Amino acid sequence: MNNPVDHTTSPMSCDEFADVLADLLERDVTEPVRAAAESHALSCDDCGPLLADLRKLRLDAANLNDLAPSRDLWAGITERIETPVMALNSAVHRAHSLRCSSIDLRTHASRVSSR
Ligand SMILES: [Zn+2]
Repeated sequence: MNNPVDHTTSPMSCDEFADVLADLLERDVTEPVRAAAESHALSCDDCGPLLADLRKLRLDAANLNDLAPSRDLWAGITERIETPVMALNSAVHRAHSLRCSSIDLRTHASRVSSR
């Protein structure tokens, strides 16, 4: 479309709201667009709850993403810290724990990328 709507003067429609919704969630919109979208959400029984739901989902997802990797990585870190450096069989031990933690990282990476 070569005819962008001026959101500062015309009220936003549901279609226009849907168009900017993703950018709105990413806070990747200009202030007039954000204001128009927010005021549409407030006045629209469909888009208001939708926006609230998506914001909540996004927050939940962000919290999950924060928690999951740090817990997984910490397991690998403690494993390396606890590897006895002075043990006689440390070479075998270290090779084993390195292999295990790289497998952990790989499974974790594939889990993240499959989201
Ligand atoms: Zn709407």
